[in-house]
Amino acid sequence: MTVFTKIINGELPCNKVLENENFLAFHDINPKAPIHILIIPKQEVQNFQEVSPEIMARMTSFIHEVTTLLGLDKNGYRLITNNGDDGGQEVMHLHFHLLGGAKLKWDHLSDSDSKSFI
Ligand code: AMP
Repeated sequence: MTVFTKIINGELPCNKVLENENFLAFHDINPKAPIHILIIPKQEVQNFQEVSPEIMARMTSFIHEVTTLLGLDKNGYRLITNNGDDGGQEVMHLHFHLLGGAKLKWDHLSDSDSKSFI
């Protein structure tokens, strides 16, 4: 069981932003931007590679609700999902990182020099 399942089950607290029957959005415990929200499905899905298009369609609507609620729809935001080992995924329950509240840099997201892979 992952830490996110414990949050869904109410066994661990979270700083909730929005919830419905299928999805939950809450503040990341270690924020990387002024606004850093995690958005997860309540259904156990390991990561983006495993998610069905049907869940993603509903999740897209929920993410739009969160961005609008937080006013991020106006100035923009970054939406990231880390997938598997090479993607740097630490919690094996699908989650999208929603980052915003400032003009975000791009370089700091990777500790690899992308030019060395070209
Ligand atoms: P990832 O590396 O993409 O798997 O991201 C996992 C994220 O979960 C990290 O940004 C952590 O800071 C965050 N995280 C881990 N445990 C908690 C928690 N109990 N509450 C909120 N965020 C958490």
